[in-house]
Amino acid sequence: MALTGIQIFKLLPKTNCKECGVPTCLAFAMNLASGKAELDQCPYVSDEAREKLAEASAPPILPVEIGKGVRKVTVGGETVLYRHEKTFFNACAYAAVVGSDIPDADLEAKLKAWNALQYERVGLNLRPELVAVNDVNGDAAAFAKVAKTVAETSEFNVILMTEKTDVMKAGIEACGFKSPLMCAATAANIDEWGALAKENNLPIVVRAESVEALQDLTDKLVGMGHKKIILDPGSREIKQALEDQVAIRRSALKNANRKLGFPTITFPCAMADNLEMETLISAMFTAKYGAVNVMSDFAGESIFPLLLERLNIYTDPQRPMTVTEGIYPINNPDENSPILITTNFALTYFIVSGEIEGSKVPCWLLIKDSEGLSVLTAWAAGKFSGDDVGMFVKKSGIMDKAKTTELVIPGYAAAIAGDVEEELPGWKITVGPREAAHIPAFLKEKTK
Ligand code: SF4
Repeated sequence: MALTGIQIFKLLPKTNCKECGVPTCLAFAMNLASGKAELDQCPYVSDEAREKLAEASAPPILPVEIGKGVRKVTVGGETVLYRHEKTFFNACAYAAVVGSDIPDADLEAKLKAWNALQYERVGLNLRPELVAVNDVNGDAAAFAKVAKTVAETSEFNVILMTEKTDVMKAGIEACGFKSPLMCAATAANIDEWGALAKENNLPIVVRAESVEALQDLTDKLVGMGHKKIILDPGSREIKQALEDQVAIRRSALKNANRKLGFPTITFPCAMADNLEMETLISAMFTAKYGAVNVMSDFAGESIFPLLLERLNIYTDPQRPMTVTEGIYPINNPDENSPILITTNFALTYFIVSGEIEGSKVPCWLLIKDSEGLSVLTAWAAGKFSGDDVGMFVKKSGIMDKAKTTELVIPGYAAAIAGDVEEELPGWKITVGPREAAHIPAFLKEKTK
């Protein structure tokens, strides 16, 4: 059970040294209790107190790591019910299923096709993480073979889906090195599978017929020393499944119910008979609150929108995505190449730089810190004013790289042209297009 602010305060040094960033230990204790501070911010907590507090200040939904390598994923670790209250921390993962009877050539083709589903967006590589190997006929050797192929020949991490202990053991032996997710322990096998997961240090799904019944099982696993638990309330009907997700999240966060304080897994693949519907269901669970969402297949038209939705939902709403202020050479510019400037909102940067790149015209792109605001917003908020832009151009170092004395400013910031000119005597300030899509034509016209 979580400690109250006063209980936490009693364990703190009470010196009010302020090093944690707040004026008193009491204020820090209150912040810690409400999840607004991290224990590590106080350097003076004794080891004994740290042990007690670490338990109490652990996130109400524990983080669970699945897999190894570049597609390793951490799910859970959430502290709020709604994204706007703070942020969601660990993006959900997507899995697609292969049966244990899949022919070798089909598996190879699927892995190749799924591996190609990677998308660059705002400097991030968006891609799904997991392949769920489903035991279709109890054949342990076939199951192990498919799990081994997925683990060894692809970057994907693995979910081992079976109800049979011998099949699970074979799967673990085949791909244990990749820390697969065991799916799923039930009331019937909880002792044996709990021991198996502990022995191999693997994350494990626990499945019951209801949210209530799950709690006894997680209690048992926690008693065995497990923390890497993922919850499956067993619901496969859409409305009930959504209600269960919300009930689990609310209980963990609002009632500090540690028995349900784990990430969840959902199975859109079992709730629909076509990929379009599965995608819609996955979209729902991406928002509320499936940490691992298992689909029957990955296809570009399905996974791409899901990855974008995930990116949006798991981006901190209070911190816009930004790129670093500076000079960005595009298409190998030289000293005579045009100089353009825009703000450091990541989406603005990637759209503008993409259009310049596509134009094949060598350019210098200056990115000015605008606290992550887009051009129009930054201008309206005074973060992209003429004086600032002019001063930034002088300090940026562009004059050491280019002889050009013409600066192209974004069309949406046309109003700053006069002020920039005053700040940069001798420079010509040209108003560029409002829309990034018009940049290639604008540049081609300028350089012809
Ligand atoms: Fe108290 Fe620690 Fe904060 Fe200092 S750093 S005020 S001791 S909580």
